Amino acid sequence: MRLLVGSDAKQHRMLQYLAGTALLYATFLGLLYDEQVFILGGTLHGLAVYTLSGLALFYLLIRASGRLGLSFHTLAALQGVFGITCNMWSYSITGPLRGATLMGLMVVVVFCTFALRPRQTMLLTFAGLLGMGGTMWWQEAHDPLRFPPGVEAVTFIMMAACSLSVTILTGEMTRLRARLKAKQERLEQALERIRTMATTDELTALPNRRHMNEMLAHEEGRAPRALPTCVALIDIDFFKGINDRHGHAAGDAVLRGFARAARAMLREGDLLARWGGEEFLLMLPDTAVADAGALLDAMRARVAALALPGIELERRVSFSAGLCARHAMESFNDAINRADKALYAAKSGGRDRVAVA
Ligand code: GH3
Ligand code: MG
Ligand code: MG
Repeated sequence: MRLLVGSDAKQHRMLQYLAGTALLYATFLGLLYDEQVFILGGTLHGLAVYTLSGLALFYLLIRASGRLGLSFHTLAALQGVFGITCNMWSYSITGPLRGATLMGLMVVVVFCTFALRPRQTMLLTFAGLLGMGGTMWWQEAHDPLRFPPGVEAVTFIMMAACSLSVTILTGEMTRLRARLKAKQERLEQALERIRTMATTDELTALPNRRHMNEMLAHEEGRAPRALPTCVALIDIDFFKGINDRHGHAAGDAVLRGFARAARAMLREGDLLARWGGEEFLLMLPDTAVADAGALLDAMRARVAALALPGIELERRVSFSAGLCARHAMESFNDAINRADKALYAAKSGGRDRVAVA
């Protein structure tokens, strides 16, 4: 099957359309073979060979479209023109059945609206009308008994009115589809923005408390592993003083600077969130408490070296942290409470340190 239709999704769709078209042509030819008595000149073989070779050629063109650089547009337009020539031929030879062949032109128009722009479809419709009109005119000039001018004129006018209406309506549908698609894209972008807003802290761009709670719940549901999940509550030291002496904007810059420095030290799977104010919660899955302590110490050193352009602080930025490893069946709520107590101990022990619960 793969050998027959390839693996490209766009090609699949083109081949599906081609298969549909082939079914239509085959049905039509089958019907005509059944009613051969009406065929002018007595044989249908020429039309059948032309139609089937055309289909085979389009199959090959679609399969080789990548290599030949043929676009979906070009292929559809070529198939449209081929459809028109089939229509012209069948109209010329089907005698009293020729009215039925006109339906084919509508199918060509509708088929092309899937691949062509409305204006291109309109051009194809004009080509169809020109081809069919020319056929009718030639037939009524050469065989007026079988193709009476009055009948041909009425048929042509009806066909022109119908195919132009169908072209205009399908063009409208194409525009509607494009508008819907654009609207859907805008909605998806808005949804993405809302999702980001709902899970991200605006000031530091870290995950927010809501997102951290979701991740903790997710982590709580996972089967226990060899190493525990550590949690650490981090609180910036003397932060109120920074705000008071240097202004709120400087305080904000410290929070952003801390977030950038701390985040740069995390491994995949670690999560640092703004828990509130100048407090942060760090979750480290599969981490021994000693390793978590070492990471926090390294983080303290990095934060101490934090340079904030345009802000001269009298003391370097530091933080205190309360760290604990979550017990096997302990809830994260309880583990965070223990970390909070350890944080209190770190503060009362002199700040700028990590206390382990
Ligand atoms: P400690 O060493 O005991 O932690 O002292 P501290 O001054 O850091 O602690 P405290 O809790 O008294 O001060 C926290 C301050 O953080 C109070 C609040 O105004 C300030 N704050 C909270 N959120 C923000 C924020 O988004 N931006 C700024 N600039 N300040 C904030
Ligand atoms: Mg605080
Ligand atoms: Mg503080």
